Amino acid sequence: MTDIRTLLRKNIANLKPYSSARHEFTGEASVFLDANENPYNHPYNRYPDPLQMRLKKAIADLKQVDESQIFLGNGSDEPIDLLFRAFCEPGVDNVVSIDPTYGMYQVAADINDIAVRRVLLTEHFGLDVKGILNAIDEHTKLLFICSPNNPSGNCFDESELVEIIKHFKGIVVLDEAYIDFAPGKSLLSQLTNFDNLVILQTFSKAWGMAGIRLGMAFASKNIVEVLNTVKYPYNLNMLTQQAGLELVEKEADKVAWVKQILQERERLSGRLKSLDFVEKVYPSDANFVLVKVRNPKGIYSFLVGKGIIVRDRSSVALCQGCLRITIGTKDENNQLLAELEKYEKNEIK
Ligand SMILES: *Cc1c(COP(=O)(O)O)cnc(C)c1O
Repeated sequence: MTDIRTLLRKNIANLKPYSSARHEFTGEASVFLDANENPYNHPYNRYPDPLQMRLKKAIADLKQVDESQIFLGNGSDEPIDLLFRAFCEPGVDNVVSIDPTYGMYQVAADINDIAVRRVLLTEHFGLDVKGILNAIDEHTKLLFICSPNNPSGNCFDESELVEIIKHFKGIVVLDEAYIDFAPGKSLLSQLTNFDNLVILQTFSKAWGMAGIRLGMAFASKNIVEVLNTVKYPYNLNMLTQQAGLELVEKEADKVAWVKQILQERERLSGRLKSLDFVEKVYPSDANFVLVKVRNPKGIYSFLVGKGIIVRDRSSVALCQGCLRITIGTKDENNQLLAELEKYEKNEIK
């Protein structure tokens, strides 16, 4: 087991966090004259719950974890940045990540002046477990793995993930933003086995709530306490907490949306494969497909001209020639297919 405190930056280990009025008194009362709030304009005049206890209770029930294992943030981006700020000494420490993967790990690392050691996936986007373990040194504090991975779309083997978690003394950050679209299960059930595991999930994808900015980090109580110490006191506003609570009640909507998206993913993948200029449609466990085409820049611009925006990933490692296409509604996907068929006809002429 890893002793989390030994991984912390010294200034964070010694930090005395800001203590807000809502922190110092949490019991029942009717007259609040402690926080210099305006007495008018109920309910928005009051500061929100700094630790989002009601929302955490609902999420704990939903995910079958303990409330003490949950950190909520302004999207997943917040816990990603907080992990750097708490554990990585600028200019000294480093992190390891796979390549290609989600761009935010690199950006958060750059902002915090932390080197990223990228370990290339194998040709078919598999994990190079040996390469990852070899990239680690005594200054490696965090290891980022995204599964299902963005932009490749595939999940990694649970046994390989566990092997990595077992062999690394720092913190493994497993980003499960797309887990609801995957056939395999989340590693949440492994949380109690590993003190050094952080699992990121989000309401931005399957739950259809990117606009409210609500991300989840699940981890040991010790890591959650560290994140709570470093975060802004009121990191989640009242509207987001409220929307989150209403959302958790509507899991059936999420399930229905995921089902439709998966159906469309299969249909769209099949249709894309039949296009002459499509060289490969990679299998996906997420709500997007990575598609290798003959002329990625040309197709990207052609689609932009038709008002359809996809993501050009052709300059990303192992993604030469690739576009990443998010699964839309049936109608949106049909519009895309109709334009691509026009492109195909013109290309052949
Ligand atoms: C979209 C995405 C997220 C979600 O980020 P939020 O800040 O929660 O919106 C996280 N990780 C990956 C890999 C993503 O693609």
